[in-house]
Amino acid sequence: MEEANVRLVCPECSKSWQTHPNELPGSTENFHCPNCRATRRTSEFMRTEHDLRTLKQLR
Ligand SMILES: [Zn+2]
Repeated sequence: MEEANVRLVCPECSKSWQTHPNELPGSTENFHCPNCRATRRTSEFMRTEHDLRTLKQLR
């Protein structure tokens, strides 16, 4: 499996970080911002379309 981190940005607090898709739930599942605890779909944290595609490919 290829190593591909996805870049995230929180729509609530603007925290940005990156992680491996294995650390995340599926794109349509709920994810909690580690900084402000906002709950959104994982797809809403993806910084770009490219990151969303990577998440969907690996999850
Ligand atoms: Zn946040």
